[in-house]
Amino acid sequence: MSEDCIFCKIINGEFGTEFVYENEHLVVFNDINPKAPVHMLVVPRVHVASLNELEDKNLMGELLMGVKKAAEKAGLKSYRTQINTGKEAGQEVSHLHIHVMGRK
Ligand code: AMP
Ligand code: ZN
Repeated sequence: MSEDCIFCKIINGEFGTEFVYENEHLVVFNDINPKAPVHMLVVPRVHVASLNELEDKNLMGELLMGVKKAAEKAGLKSYRTQINTGKEAGQEVSHLHIHVMGRK
């Protein structure tokens, strides 16, 4: 938990964000500014600032299983995934997340 992290606040339920899918490792919610008809974010419960700070390799496996689950829940058979790492690459929120984008 990082106190000034918007995704940690979402995970703590501070904004009442609806989760598309959740389990002990992660939550999935819709992107507030969607760049595709379906645009979800798969976010670990633990605060990891970016891929560069990742130490737990098992977490990545859990996140990718979360991608699959979220796609199933959203009825997506075909989708793109994206991880932005670092400001220059377009990372706006410093809490690791995987974008899942597709059309129904
Ligand atoms: P990135 O640029 O990879 O860090 O992606 C951050 C994403 O988080 C952007 O696509 C934003 O639209 C999204 N975002 C920021 N704040 C919120 C929020 N409160 N709820 C849902 N999505 C958000
Ligand atoms: Zn965080």
